[in-house]
Amino acid sequence: MSAEHPYSFFASVEKSFDKAALFTKWDTGILEQIKACNSIYSMRFPIKRDNGTIEVMEAYRVQHSQHKLPCKGGIRFSEAVNQDEVMALASLMTYKCAIVNVPFGGGKGGIKINPRNYSVYELEKITRRYTSELVKKNFIGPGIDVPAPDYGTGEREMAWIVDTYASLKPGDIDAAGCVTGKPITQGGVRGRKEATGLGVFFGLREVCNMPDVMKRQGLTLGVEGKTVVVQGLGNVGYHSAKFFREHGAKVVALAEFEGAIYDPAGLNEEAVFQHRKATGSILNFPGATNLAKSSDALELECDILIPAALENVINGENAPRVKAKIIGEAANGPCTPEADEVFIKKGILCVPDMYLNAGGVTVSYFEWLKNLSHVRYGRMEKRFTENLNTHILSQIEELSGKKVSDKERLAIMHGPEEVDLVHSGLEETMITATREIMEIWLTNPEIPDMRTAAYVSAINKVGTCYAELGIFP
Ligand code: GLU
Repeated sequence: MSAEHPYSFFASVEKSFDKAALFTKWDTGILEQIKACNSIYSMRFPIKRDNGTIEVMEAYRVQHSQHKLPCKGGIRFSEAVNQDEVMALASLMTYKCAIVNVPFGGGKGGIKINPRNYSVYELEKITRRYTSELVKKNFIGPGIDVPAPDYGTGEREMAWIVDTYASLKPGDIDAAGCVTGKPITQGGVRGRKEATGLGVFFGLREVCNMPDVMKRQGLTLGVEGKTVVVQGLGNVGYHSAKFFREHGAKVVALAEFEGAIYDPAGLNEEAVFQHRKATGSILNFPGATNLAKSSDALELECDILIPAALENVINGENAPRVKAKIIGEAANGPCTPEADEVFIKKGILCVPDMYLNAGGVTVSYFEWLKNLSHVRYGRMEKRFTENLNTHILSQIEELSGKKVSDKERLAIMHGPEEVDLVHSGLEETMITATREIMEIWLTNPEIPDMRTAAYVSAINKVGTCYAELGIFP
């Protein structure tokens, strides 16, 4: 915390960690080690702008934990980037990976810029220079630290990173594994782009399928018919909205920083996205009501509220006005510990970020494995499975004397494509993690909320790893 940054995100993470640590058996030394950020690289480098002026960039990479390698976590481009924020986000990555059994330590990077104020050429120079700074200090590599997209970055930036890394490491056959979230042509995996939003959907769907939990929240079972509000129409918000809509939920409001729109009949995220692209604003979408203040959307009546933008948007001040029955944290750190206390009192179920938005890093793990194995998922078994299924089906038809419909035939024969395997691996991961955390929470009546249960799960997994590694001589 500082005068410039009165809210400390890292302190918030520490606070939630300490609250959960009380429910674990680890001694304070191990807890301190789990909590600490192991390596912090703060850098400054110059960039020549298109107009000829020189600008000094402020950038970071934090490796929170190396209990498993490589470290893993995105790189964000945002004006709000500071060391405290990157430390908090790196810590969340450690806990996130532990919960979903992705064998990585936590890391995060950030560059303090608003990408909208830079040309594509300038952004490329900044990204490439940042990558070479990481290479110089051994802060990037398939076995060291593997960045990914985050707020303000995407496939394009990841392509620049892998290209810069590969050119500085000639002959490194695993160079593609130095970063994830790449375009398919650069070693990306099918299904990565929508992964975080799809993971948010899978996680919340599992919660909505739990009869006891739904009963307690006063909601009917299942996703269908639920009203949803999504804050943020970036990659994560867009895909969260898309999967909820496709599965029968009604997305009644969408918010962006210029304002929000509301339509009780339900919004189509793609149509809103195109409207925003064409007009430069989410407001004035045909048939919807404008909400001038974006944050008003957080206070709308709905079943599920999905903050999918930045941290600290629901805090002690506005939490009392939140009317949602469930909050699904698609962003990292959208609700503060003060908001958590309010939710406990009001009976709002907050499904925490550090596992709910783990879909991104889970599929990043699949991408990294693909890069190291140098083969596309499904390549070896797709045809084999199809031939086998065709054979089984023809035997059944012959023996029974009946034929299945063409639609069923296609579904039965279908051998897995890369995207099928990635989606099913993600579905399995999110369902398992949801059940594990719920089990911890519901079998320990003193644990006050699901976030604390998630932290307990993470602390136990990282703690066991440190203890069994015998890292403490
Ligand atoms: N930036 C994403 C996150 O916060 C993805 C990280 C990754 O894929 O490594 O989880």
